[in-house]
Amino acid sequence: MTIQFYNSLTNSLQTFEPLDPPTVRMYSCGPTVYDYSHIGNFRSFIAADLLRRFLELTGHDVKHVMNITDVGHMTEDDIADGGGQDKMQAAAARVKEDKKSGKVPAGAVENPDDPYQVAEFYTQAFLNDARALGLKVANEYPAMMPHATQKIPEMQALIAKLIEREHAYIAADGTVYFSVESFDQYGELSGNTIEKLRAGEGGRISDDVIASKRHPADFMLWKPDASHIMKWDSPWGEGYPGWHIECSAMARQVLGVDTIDIHTGGEDLTFPHHECEIAQSCGATGATHFAKFWIHTRFLLVEGEKMSKRKGSFYTARDVFEGRVTGNTVHPAVLRYELIKTHYGANLNFTVKGLHDSAAAVRKIQTTYNQAVYESKSSAQIDNSHPVIATFINALSDNLNISEALAVVFSFLNEKNANPAEARAILESLDSVLGVLPPQDSNASSSDTTEGPDTEAQTWAKQLDTARKNKDYALADEIRQKIIDAGYNVQTTKDGTVIEKKLA
Ligand code: AMP
Ligand code: ZN
Repeated sequence: MTIQFYNSLTNSLQTFEPLDPPTVRMYSCGPTVYDYSHIGNFRSFIAADLLRRFLELTGHDVKHVMNITDVGHMTEDDIADGGGQDKMQAAAARVKEDKKSGKVPAGAVENPDDPYQVAEFYTQAFLNDARALGLKVANEYPAMMPHATQKIPEMQALIAKLIEREHAYIAADGTVYFSVESFDQYGELSGNTIEKLRAGEGGRISDDVIASKRHPADFMLWKPDASHIMKWDSPWGEGYPGWHIECSAMARQVLGVDTIDIHTGGEDLTFPHHECEIAQSCGATGATHFAKFWIHTRFLLVEGEKMSKRKGSFYTARDVFEGRVTGNTVHPAVLRYELIKTHYGANLNFTVKGLHDSAAAVRKIQTTYNQAVYESKSSAQIDNSHPVIATFINALSDNLNISEALAVVFSFLNEKNANPAEARAILESLDSVLGVLPPQDSNASSSDTTEGPDTEAQTWAKQLDTARKNKDYALADEIRQKIIDAGYNVQTTKDGTVIEKKLA
């Protein structure tokens, strides 16, 4: 079997072979914990999760790290290096407002001016949403999800190494910068070579900042600033790290190697963030590659447009779960399906209609699975050579071709299956990648992907069976309606009534 992914580093489809099989070391840029993560963020995180699960299904041992950025990500980092305010600081005023409006519960974040409290609150919110959405790495918190503020010594060691190797320098104002001219490959990932950047000199960066750098594209590694909201002692003065150095340091420290197999993130991170990560990591270690594969997820749009707070189309995952998008609560498995069903290399157009279609798709997978579970004592033994699984893997091996993979799933669901134990095993295997069924065991990914029916509704289901047995159809209809009104779908199977919570 050949696995191919689109590598942004070479702008081509390339055969994927881990450096140290069967281990795959993978790093994904994680959330900045200054607000609830939105569905666009989760699109990127879930794309990485899908990739991880696919690699696991194909026998790899994936060591997946996703960081938590809780310092140094500035409001204008994308356009002006180190510009604006730390996002954690900018969050304070908003959290105060959100506490008034109830978006942040009144008892939470006692002191919004304390960035550690803000970070802790949004980290926990992220972990809850991520686990509900089946993001496996969230179950490995904190080991595989380091906080930037806990890895400052590792960042400082990397900066010291960069200074020693003359890839970094201390400017007149004391800021430590990476010298892009010292690194020949700068621009290889994004195409923003030093020549091109020189042409665009100026931009949003103030003349003062430019004057203190050797080259306008040099980027900050350490900023001495005793007035910053979070600060640490360092050989370059009390201050804080640049956003880019965080990922280089955390990837190396947690994964323990100079070259990793895969690095993922949203398309916006290609430049400057990932370009700078490569320069720092390779500059410090001398390795030819920081990551062999760079995999970038295209942006999520809402109803065809960029998400916008002004237009009211900026949705957090909990806005979707709690019914603020469709008017009904939405099961996390449905949002997960909606976020994986479009290929990571294309823009995902999130729509209310799409969400309803996803609910129907998830229902079909769950119903077929539940039926198979009712009809079999246990799953049959199958492996990846089973034709359904082999075709599914084959589709995903082709740069994670999810449309083809889902077509395999649905053609299987539409077949009449004579062997429920086998059907059960097939669905479990497919779902190890899709992640829309309830967890199979206590070690499985998420805690409560699907809520079971409550006991009262289960009692009604039994009463419905009894009424049918007694041929009291009027009573049976009445009970059936009561169950539907309580938010359940009702099906009649040969083993009796099966009820499930409605998904969306
Ligand atoms: P942040 O929390 O801002 O650091 O972003 C976390 C991740 O979300 C990054 O990988 C971003 O590239 C990604 N991201 C942000 N907006 C979107 C979007 N609309 N669609 C897909 N990914 C996004
Ligand atoms: Zn990063």
